[in-house]
Amino acid sequence: MTKITDHIKAANGKPIFSIEVIPPIKGDTLKNLLDNIEPLMEFKPPFVDVTYHREEYIERPLPDGTIQKIVTRKRPGTVGICSAIMHRFGVDPVPHVLCGGFSREETEDFLIDLHYLGIDNALVLRGDPAKPFTTFKAKENGYSYASELVEQVANMNRGVYLHEEDTALAPSNFCIGVAAYPEKHFEAENHDIDFEYLKQKVDKGADYIVTQMFFDNRKYFDFVERCRQHGIDIPIIPGLKPLSTRRQLQILPRLFHLHMPEELVAAVEACENDQQARQVGIEWGIQQSRELMAAGAPVLHYYTMGKADNVMQIARAVF
Ligand code: FAD
Repeated sequence: MTKITDHIKAANGKPIFSIEVIPPIKGDTLKNLLDNIEPLMEFKPPFVDVTYHREEYIERPLPDGTIQKIVTRKRPGTVGICSAIMHRFGVDPVPHVLCGGFSREETEDFLIDLHYLGIDNALVLRGDPAKPFTTFKAKENGYSYASELVEQVANMNRGVYLHEEDTALAPSNFCIGVAAYPEKHFEAENHDIDFEYLKQKVDKGADYIVTQMFFDNRKYFDFVERCRQHGIDIPIIPGLKPLSTRRQLQILPRLFHLHMPEELVAAVEACENDQQARQVGIEWGIQQSRELMAAGAPVLHYYTMGKADNVMQIARAVF
């Protein structure tokens, strides 16, 4: 399959359309997800990201008064979905690979599965804390930061696996994506520290960057400029989510630590219902997309979050 960076090169400056999908809740069928994104294939996304959702914990009180901690998984199936997308649509799937919940050996096995399936792209992330916890904790013999996982994947690309006795193994061929935050990762003390750690991911082998969603293009433009000043010269793909309900005015800034432009806030506050708010979100998404395209963004990457009709309308207007 083709690397994301090669897709970008082949596009020769023409912006690429791509999407991110979320695995369905355990027990749902894959059919809905695939049917939902099928109309978007009209815009020829060369790749589709599939998120990974780590384990969560529930606590169950036992008759003896103690608490049993039970691991649950709500959205398993990332690798299976990648394979289904690859075969049904003939596009390159990009599985998200997390530090959280994995030991480095489990990560190696996961990456080997991807390699056997012919999946040559991976978005490498730390992951959020396991719910209900609020701070990230690495699994025993796992990683605390995405840069460490980038290093492991880059080593595999050189044929260096975890254990010395695994000699003469064929190298993998992963194109490595990493996440970045135009409005700063919420845990970072300041932008400079965040840039230092982003640079670390790039120095250890990241090939491209995908940003957190933003609603103010200025944040992306400033971020790209500062990356270039810090010597980060790999492609920076803007992540875009069309706002789709009135409540998202509060929820998105809280969850993703981002700023909502006043003009967008005013337009959504003037809506009488969510249908109107969804329309405002689409129009905002069209404006954002046009401006990003004109400024030379290599890819416009839309977070579908399970619903694709609004992304469809934006894509129709701009691609
Ligand atoms: P890191 O790059 O490890 O950074 C995390 C924090 O640690 C930052 O504050 C950074 O400044 C700091 N830091 C980095 N290195 C060091 C160091 N050496 N020492 C001290 N501090 C350091 N989450 C999921 O669970 N599943 C997904 O599929 C998923 N997909 C995503 C896709 C995109 C495009 C984005 C932007 C985010 C996604 N996330 C996903 C969320 C992501 O996992 C969280 O934002 C997480 O909190 C940080 O991940 P990271 O890879 O950016 O971490």
